[in-house]
Amino acid sequence: MQTRLRLRITGVVQGVGFRPFVYGLAQRYGLTGFVGNDSNGVFVEVQGTPESLDAFRSSLVTAAPPLAHIDSVAVTVLPVQHETTFVIVRSKSTASANTLISPDVAICADCLRELHDPLDRRYHYSFINCTHCGPRFTIITDIPYDRPLTTMAGFRMCAVCQAEYDDPLNRRFHAQPNACPLCGPQLWLEHAGQRIEKDVLGAAQALLVSGHIVAVKGLGGFHLACVAHEEGLLVQLRERKGRVDKPFAVMARDMAAVQRFAVVSAQEAHLLLSKERPIVLLRKREPSPLSRLVAPGNGHIGVMLPYTPLHELLLTEALPVLVMTSGNVADEPIVKDNGEARIRLAGLADALLMHDRPIHMHCDDSVVRMSGTELLPIRRSRGYAPFPVKLPWAVPPVLAVGGELKATFCITKEDYAFMSQHIGDMENWETLVAFEAAVDHFRHIFRMTPTLIAYDRHPGYLSARWAQQYAGDAAVVAVQHHHAHIASVMAENGHGDARPVIGFSFDGTGYGDDGAIWGGEVLLADYRGFERVSHLRYIPLPGGDAAIKRPYRTALAHLRAAGVDWDTALPPVAACSVVEQGVLAQQLETGLNCVPTSSFGRLFDAVAALAGVRQVVTYEAQAAIELEALAAPGITSRYTFALMDGFFDAAPVIREVATDVVAGVSAEIIAAKFHNAITDLIVNLSLQLRTQTGLNSVALSGGVFQNATLLKLVIAALEESDFDILTHRLVPPNDGGLALGQAMIAAQVYG
Ligand code: ZN
Ligand code: ZN
Ligand code: FE
Repeated sequence: MQTRLRLRITGVVQGVGFRPFVYGLAQRYGLTGFVGNDSNGVFVEVQGTPESLDAFRSSLVTAAPPLAHIDSVAVTVLPVQHETTFVIVRSKSTASANTLISPDVAICADCLRELHDPLDRRYHYSFINCTHCGPRFTIITDIPYDRPLTTMAGFRMCAVCQAEYDDPLNRRFHAQPNACPLCGPQLWLEHAGQRIEKDVLGAAQALLVSGHIVAVKGLGGFHLACVAHEEGLLVQLRERKGRVDKPFAVMARDMAAVQRFAVVSAQEAHLLLSKERPIVLLRKREPSPLSRLVAPGNGHIGVMLPYTPLHELLLTEALPVLVMTSGNVADEPIVKDNGEARIRLAGLADALLMHDRPIHMHCDDSVVRMSGTELLPIRRSRGYAPFPVKLPWAVPPVLAVGGELKATFCITKEDYAFMSQHIGDMENWETLVAFEAAVDHFRHIFRMTPTLIAYDRHPGYLSARWAQQYAGDAAVVAVQHHHAHIASVMAENGHGDARPVIGFSFDGTGYGDDGAIWGGEVLLADYRGFERVSHLRYIPLPGGDAAIKRPYRTALAHLRAAGVDWDTALPPVAACSVVEQGVLAQQLETGLNCVPTSSFGRLFDAVAALAGVRQVVTYEAQAAIELEALAAPGITSRYTFALMDGFFDAAPVIREVATDVVAGVSAEIIAAKFHNAITDLIVNLSLQLRTQTGLNSVALSGGVFQNATLLKLVIAALEESDFDILTHRLVPPNDGGLALGQAMIAAQVYG
């Protein structure tokens, strides 16, 4: 007896070898019918005995290809037909699109083996790939995922490649970027006005070894690469990029090379080797063979392993580690096109290692770290975007534009939230152009027209102004910054409970509803709204943004608010000239040019300055990052915040820190006691609010929770009191995760 079924499969099922997999299964179970792609996913019709159909259906889910992610399988019974074969049919394009797009995938073990096999026809070919690996998101121009709709459209496959592509049993069956040295993309080097096409990698390696900076075209854009041990070279790179202290990431050839300069846990090794191949923040090993200038003042170093065949060939025994920083000036978007590279990277790199496979979407490297046994995303981009976050329920189509720093945006479609790749700091025209191009691309590939547009309430944000102009007929929703942080962590945890959470939204800067700069906020929040039940007591921030660059100024403001004299025994006082002290005192006295703030980021700055760690910063959160790096493990003593009605006061903490500094207590101990103080604060407030409200869910979000040392302490302490804890594992706690919360809030307000 025969039965015929139609299966409709949604999820990440295109470009991951799903059709050949279905074909193989149909062969195995002796079924007839067909399989194909359309813009909603994969459709299958299969016919056979009920037993073989059952086996087919269960294997479909349990044995799916490694990159596939099945969201649903809908089954309908059809009348039996006369047929004798199982075939793969042509792709169909339909108007609606519900298919997910695969992120880019690091080179797989099979391709790696061929890459290093002298007898293979792709031996040392920089663009080897297969159904299970290679570029995806960055080369896709439209859906369905088919070669003509990728940047490989211009390359005509040779007969051998075409035969692989057409053979359902070949591991390159329908591998859209399939290529070989005869028919695929080519590599060349531009150096000193010359174009080198022979032994390109050898020439690039020679330049690198002799201390040159080479721009390398990768998967989602250009990197600037150079050796990591030469002080002078790093000074030069920092000067050219306009980057004073902000850490550079490095790429190491293999795990053995990593272990020479960093400590790697089993979980971190797993992350380094994952198909996403993010930059993983690892604890530095001292003494290190790398220059101090790679990540100055930082206890951690960002490390990644080669993720494209080109990287795999570039790093050799003679070049085991390279600095690999994004190819751009300061905070502009990463350069992705060859022509653009010749202009914008001319002053940065001594040579350009390029190729002719176009990059359609720029995509920076992702950055992650481990917090205890949990993954903590710092920047979610290559390898992860545009894989969606599953929402607790379906929402209307929303475009949320995020904040200002570390900008990402989010579009929603039913119960999916698609977070964009990292775009950059939305402070200049170039970033805005890249942002708009990415929004248009996402809207197009996901066939989505927003009816709601969400943005941050900060009137000065470029993203907010852009959103209002872009809105057209869509309704606009301005969302409070710290509310968005809490909604973001709720959403990624699939929090669908109608009861509010106790939210700790701690960060550097966000526009408060009273016009103050918020950043130490305790909110009872759901997606609809929030009640600000407590916050760090305001201090006046003299000169607003000027204080952010100079933590000693913030320290002086905190000292004054705490009633501590400006004694030159205190490092921030010593760092401030007598004249500047006079001006500051005047400003704080009159409130002229001062903005009230409850920022936790600024409190970190003040404590770091007091502990003598840092008086002036050159990149965001630098003082806090350095203070975290110093925190001595195993210290149980602590400072104490004062809990008042409706706010909490850092004055006692500041007084105790000042006393410790004068008494000669080390920065390591001060840092540890400060981390313990924040842990106590969060637990005590949580206990108090649980008693008052009966709520038991605690949500932690905002840039402060990038601090894995703090996060670990807080989670352990909250677990001891049996709280349900919501933390970030999918999107960053910093402003890179903001858009997700904005989208959920907008959807709820209008839902
Ligand atoms: Zn492969
Ligand atoms: Zn070929
Ligand atoms: Fe924030």
